[in-house]
Amino acid sequence: MGKRVAVKETYLAFVQELEKRRETDYLVVHHTASAGDIGAAEIHEEHKANGWAGCGYHYVIRFDGTVERGRPRDTVGAHAFGVNDRSIGIALSGNFMTTEPTDAQITSLENLLADLCDLYCLNQTNIIGHRDVAVMLQDSADATACPGDRLYERMDEIRQRVHRLQE
Ligand SMILES: [Zn+2]
Repeated sequence: MGKRVAVKETYLAFVQELEKRRETDYLVVHHTASAGDIGAAEIHEEHKANGWAGCGYHYVIRFDGTVERGRPRDTVGAHAFGVNDRSIGIALSGNFMTTEPTDAQITSLENLLADLCDLYCLNQTNIIGHRDVAVMLQDSADATACPGDRLYERMDEIRQRVHRLQE
């Protein structure tokens, strides 16, 4: 896809047909809220157990910075209530309420965001944290701590770096 970061294919088998996404207005950043370094394959099993088609995120970023494929990029995700039909979901493995993302994760996230911004003609203003969605939609019922304080507080720095990468 992009020129800055490689995406590792995971060949997940989805149990329902995935809908094609018509619009892409937001790149939504999540954490997995897991204690350890979990990947797309494990999340896929968890999300199937929720009754979903499979992994709800489009990308999962491991501790070592590897970017794994979740849902195909051009499909509707299951990650951010209210904007699934117009966004891409990127989850960093870990719980950033209690721990810090790794430097490798942040670097991969910035590169992936810059690649996606190029692809969809977006810029840093289209990058949001999951918790921003409920605020944006004035929907307090879906308030969430995601992507965790220690990632959320770095979002401005990440947006600025994406902007510089796009120049
Ligand atoms: Zn989230």
